[in-house]
Amino acid sequence: MLACCAALVVAIAVPVLIGILSGGGSEGREKEIYGPLETPPSDAAVPTEAPEEPLWGWDGEMDGASGDFNRWVTVLLDDGLHWMRLNYYLYGVIAGEMPATFPEEALKAQAVAARTYTLYKQSRPTSAHPQAEICGNSACCKAYAAEDALRERWGEDYMTHAKAIRAAVDETDGRIMTYEDEPILAVFHSTSSGITERAADVWGGDLPYLQSVPSTGEEASPRYRAKVELSADECREILLAAYPDMRLSENPKEWFSGVRRSEAGGVTRLRIGGVRVTGGEARRMFGLNSTNFTISATQDGVVFETRGFGHGVGMSQYGARALALEGKGYEEILCWYYTGAVLSVLEETEERSDI
Ligand SMILES: [Zn+2]
Repeated sequence: MLACCAALVVAIAVPVLIGILSGGGSEGREKEIYGPLETPPSDAAVPTEAPEEPLWGWDGEMDGASGDFNRWVTVLLDDGLHWMRLNYYLYGVIAGEMPATFPEEALKAQAVAARTYTLYKQSRPTSAHPQAEICGNSACCKAYAAEDALRERWGEDYMTHAKAIRAAVDETDGRIMTYEDEPILAVFHSTSSGITERAADVWGGDLPYLQSVPSTGEEASPRYRAKVELSADECREILLAAYPDMRLSENPKEWFSGVRRSEAGGVTRLRIGGVRVTGGEARRMFGLNSTNFTISATQDGVVFETRGFGHGVGMSQYGARALALEGKGYEEILCWYYTGAVLSVLEETEERSDI
């Protein structure tokens, strides 16, 4: 049974762009608006006419009025700092993070998770990129796919895919997941092992809404199972590059010991050549899809077999897909993966007056 949670309408105080781009502060910074707007943000209005070229699947019939539209986010991408309306930023995130062919309710769940994550980040400036609230690096924040690149990638399917992405964002406009009236750290991953990981087991800090839950249908993911095979020499080279003092005998069978696992099955720590290593470090060193791995070592080499893809915490995208195919709605999907969190609606904001 999926947990049931009612939508609450809450006013959440989220600091929005605390003057970072206002007045003289914007000098020398690139500003770019994604979307069918040519006018400066201070004069921005809900678009009423179709742009010459469709943007993000815009077909002239959207109403455009949205809470996301009136919120702004500073985003650091490979080509510099961008200043975007939240809905346009989210189109790029959903396109970058989930196949556009996924079921509608899975895409909506992804949109709410990405919106929630963005608001969470906006309220917590990061030293990784103090000039921007969020970045397009999936290892740091969330992936972002630019529309022009997607036009090329999707080709004649552009309108179909872009409309699906836009609908997922627009139809969940202003909706986020909260816990005790605060946006949650709505992390997600591609594919779980069949049960998601607790945040405490992966990152060390417990969050009540990031607990372990069963997640079915993961086998549909092309990365559900994977294998990394390394010769003894390759494995030794990787380990000594990271740990020059590691004591590695001639026989790889003697290298690995003391494997500890989380309740969900992910390796939390192990000993390699006498050195204590976390599951996450092992994953990074050997390029594994997840920390849910087994080790088969022989005289000649080492084989790692993984289940799942990603850190395993929060919403599984393939799990969300499976629930959507079962007929579950996006709220049920989100409530399943974020224990005890509720769907909330952001208070309408006024257009910023200081920009
Ligand atoms: Zn970042």
